[in-house]
Amino acid sequence: MLRSVEAALSGVERWLLPPACLLCQSPIGAREDDALVCQLCRSRWRRVPHPLCDRCGQPAFGDLECRICAAWPPGLDRVRSAVWLTGGAHAAVHHLKYEGWWRVADAMAGAMLQLEPLTGQVSLIPVPLGARRLRARGYNQSERLAKALAARTGLRIRTDLLTRARETRTQTTLTPDARHANVAGAFLAHRASGLGAVLVDDVFTTGATLAAAAAALVASGAKRVEAVTFGRAVEPVG
Ligand SMILES: [Zn+2]
Ligand SMILES: [Zn+2]
Repeated sequence: MLRSVEAALSGVERWLLPPACLLCQSPIGAREDDALVCQLCRSRWRRVPHPLCDRCGQPAFGDLECRICAAWPPGLDRVRSAVWLTGGAHAAVHHLKYEGWWRVADAMAGAMLQLEPLTGQVSLIPVPLGARRLRARGYNQSERLAKALAARTGLRIRTDLLTRARETRTQTTLTPDARHANVAGAFLAHRASGLGAVLVDDVFTTGATLAAAAAALVASGAKRVEAVTFGRAVEPVG
């Protein structure tokens, strides 16, 4: 029943939509199906260039110790992000998170398909939102992204293993150290024994949230935890 209502609503949304790109407002051709973002705008998203830090996925230069992940607690094995969070990619995230355009997740998932953690037989785990934020937004943007990835890869999505143990304050004004303290113990996991998990989130900034979620999954028995995000902040704080 719910599913058919959801399908009907998405049909209505499509019917109401002007056939224009969400980012540049230019017309979208019939061949681009239901895309909310035109091919040209998607081609302008700047991919994160290799070589990368093996663990956190930040572009790496030489043998310098990585300043992003050196202080991470153990648990999160590998993170990869598709594009830098600039220009149209930043706008897409904004539409997904704050403007109610959750179907833009499909275009974002399309940019993530080549990320290495998605090539294994893994379960996708969206980073859960706190109950208050979920009520305010009406949906979890990470779950929309994970669903779009699951539809394209055939990977299984699990939303029953990881929950928020408490609300956390917004991370945007915090230093990296304060971010880790802010989210430490913020997640609870159960029945993750033997699991190969890939956390899914919209944006990577310092990795503090992903590291805390991974720690909970490992404590619950997960055997390997990786993560993928659509965007990566260009200049992490600090
Ligand atoms: Zn466009
Ligand atoms: Zn690193």
